[in-house]
Amino acid sequence: MTPIAKKAREAIVITFMIAQIIIDSHAHFRGRRQSYKTNPYQVLREARLGGISISIGMPNTLDPIDTFLAAEDYRHLEIAPAEKMLALERIQPMYFGARDNNLKEFLKVVYLDYIIGAKFYDEPLSGGGLFIKSWEAERDYMQACARFDKVVACHNDETKTVRAKGYVKEAEIRSVERRLNLAVQIPNLRIVMCHVSCKEAAELILQAQKNGLRVAIEICPHYMWFDSWGTHWCPSLDAVFYWCYNNLRTPEDREFLVSLWKSGNRLVFGGTDTAGHAAWEKFAKPGLGGLPTNQHYLPLSVTLAVDYNISQRRTAEVTSFNQADFFKFDVPRELVPHTFVKAVDMRMDRYNQGIITNPWSSELFFREEQLLAA
Ligand SMILES: [Zn+2]
Repeated sequence: MTPIAKKAREAIVITFMIAQIIIDSHAHFRGRRQSYKTNPYQVLREARLGGISISIGMPNTLDPIDTFLAAEDYRHLEIAPAEKMLALERIQPMYFGARDNNLKEFLKVVYLDYIIGAKFYDEPLSGGGLFIKSWEAERDYMQACARFDKVVACHNDETKTVRAKGYVKEAEIRSVERRLNLAVQIPNLRIVMCHVSCKEAAELILQAQKNGLRVAIEICPHYMWFDSWGTHWCPSLDAVFYWCYNNLRTPEDREFLVSLWKSGNRLVFGGTDTAGHAAWEKFAKPGLGGLPTNQHYLPLSVTLAVDYNISQRRTAEVTSFNQADFFKFDVPRELVPHTFVKAVDMRMDRYNQGIITNPWSSELFFREEQLLAA
């Protein structure tokens, strides 16, 4: 068998049985004051082209979604209209941004059907931003989520370590460990560790699962395809497009994540961490986070399945059923055939008969769309 990843310069057609409702547990819709990067309409359009039916949005927009009014504005002014224009059948849920002092606001949004839970970010190194710092506040949020049947999602980069050593594994591991220690004390909590990127953090989570905690491991496709040694699934695509948070780790970490993806673990699933940035930002400052387009999620998952001999059923679990069980979405469990076409020139980004000429230069793209619609 020749790995598909090595055939980056050949056209490939694969038919694969997939789940009917593909779920992306981690999307950045942007918009608000960052529509020059991307906006909910475009992100959801790319999701639809990539075969994704449900994308879960993150609250670290500018300004962040950390009040009842911000959540309602974002939902009704940007996300709901995008759903309508794109004729999406499912509500696109989102997280609320947790802070040390905004639990009251969270208690106002827990009744809204589109709020899936609370997101924890660690204190960023510079600027304001959205973050939660005190462990008491985190504990109170966890208790509220458990009580109102919401999920806690964590971005794990412990501030102290990042300040001293940068975005090393240790920062991720420490933060995961601290939050697991808090979470085990909260009965009925559902918690997801976002973009788990290394073996040690994953092992801590597996142990917590064994101890009965309902903690999920979110894996982003890029951590299974790239590593710090330069492994790259598509050599013809410029690596500048693929800078991501957390940092890429070693081949050993990458292989470990693939083995989790392959395992029967029902608390492992995929999220793209799609994060639009304008082209000039990508070139001016390599290091901006996330997969450039969620359209790669399914093709990457299927490519991985073929190359690593992962079953169609398991691929459906990690791209749909496991998320559905964890987040409590009602999805059909029968698989359907889907044909993927990978073009010779990956710069074309041609998947599912959908053509995105420049997936990350959102502003121009959106204007073009508006012109077409006018
Ligand atoms: Zn993210």
